[in-house]
Amino acid sequence: MCHTTLLDSKFVEFLVRTDEKMAEEMRAAGCTRCGSALHLNSFPRKPRGMPPAWTEHFTYRLSFDCSVCSKRHTPPSVRFLEQCEQG
Ligand SMILES: [Zn+2]
Repeated sequence: MCHTTLLDSKFVEFLVRTDEKMAEEMRAAGCTRCGSALHLNSFPRKPRGMPPAWTEHFTYRLSFDCSVCSKRHTPPSVRFLEQCEQG
């Protein structure tokens, strides 16, 4: 058994679970504009420069849209760099 591969898979699993936990906290809090429920509306990403075994875990970023006002809510992520807010 290759311990490096096992460690890599555990690490990626940790990253995915951390993102899912932060996303669930955002979803549970509801829309920051109107307080309504959030619906999952993740968007695709194109992973580059990572081990092939990791690629499948980096093909989407969790995100939500408000069920009423459609405001997008993208939770923080440990898998993807943050986008800077403009203005
Ligand atoms: Zn809303």
